[in-house]
Amino acid sequence: MTVLEQMLEQTGSVVILGHVRPDGDCLGSTLGLYHYIQTNYPAIRAAVYLEESSPKFGYLAGYDAILHETDEERYELCICLDCGDEERLGSFGVYLANASKSLCLDHHITNTRFCEVNLVSENASSTCEVLFEQLDEEKIDKAAAECLYTGLIHDTGVFKYSCTSARTMEIAGKLMAKGIDFGSIIDNSFYKKTYVQNQILGRALLESITFLDGKCIFSALRQSEMEFYGVNGKDMDGIIDQLRLTEGVEVAIFMYQTGPQEFKVSLRSQNAVDVSRIASYFGGGGHVRAAGCTMSGRIHDVVNNLSLHIAKQLDAAGPQEE
Ligand code: 5GP
Ligand code: MN
Repeated sequence: MTVLEQMLEQTGSVVILGHVRPDGDCLGSTLGLYHYIQTNYPAIRAAVYLEESSPKFGYLAGYDAILHETDEERYELCICLDCGDEERLGSFGVYLANASKSLCLDHHITNTRFCEVNLVSENASSTCEVLFEQLDEEKIDKAAAECLYTGLIHDTGVFKYSCTSARTMEIAGKLMAKGIDFGSIIDNSFYKKTYVQNQILGRALLESITFLDGKCIFSALRQSEMEFYGVNGKDMDGIIDQLRLTEGVEVAIFMYQTGPQEFKVSLRSQNAVDVSRIASYFGGGGHVRAAGCTMSGRIHDVVNNLSLHIAKQLDAAGPQEE
């Protein structure tokens, strides 16, 4: 029996948490576990607390049952998924503080081991992959498989980022065998965009600027622009991926304004640069090739600050092969 199954056997109530601004892996892992508990441990009182997320994830089982506000409830066991540190739990961290037991399942290299038991696999493609290893394969039904598969495709960019392993593909195959409509999941949750999401993607690409001899690219969206197009932080998926795919680019930066002189920053790297180190330096975290943080200042200050760290790593790496 796995650590997770043992902890579930010994508890009467579970609260499931993820990170602020939940993404596909966060939603897939939290809802996958929620559904798994509901179907296989019906005696357990379980709940998921997360911030509001993009409605494109509405097909995930339990999506409508997610609680978005804190309440007076208390739970014995707190399970944190896809979350590297306590702060990233946002206001829902109170449930961790009130729980008598805690378990963290994650794959962030910057994970601080903030729970009582921490199962962190830095080499796993996604938290859904870490979670799959903790579940009894026989007890995963189609709805849980849809959740886990969603996490796999979002954190691997549909099985192409370097975090994708033979094991990732093996797990994807096992999930496909549960009868999921994988094509629709990929199209509807990863590639499909609303009209305004396409507009904002176009705008971000049009206004992007390269620097450090074309090895870096950045694009920024101000609050006024976001208001003009009627978009918010949930509409930004895919922008950083397209910037990253610009020929010759080693590091891509995308940021959108979240407050007066405050920006949510996404970083992606192709090869030489460890962006998790840079994001950590500015109070964020993530993975070697994909990381993020929140930074203060004007757009140019933010880019200049990041640029220094990127240049240092590029210099240390020496000339890149074409
Ligand atoms: P994204 O750029 O897609 O928001 O995030 C890329 C990766 O970095 C994800 O794994 C995400 O969890 C992590 N990440 C993004 N922003 C932050 C942050 O502010 N703090 C930490 N610790 N991790 C972050
Ligand atoms: Mn993840």
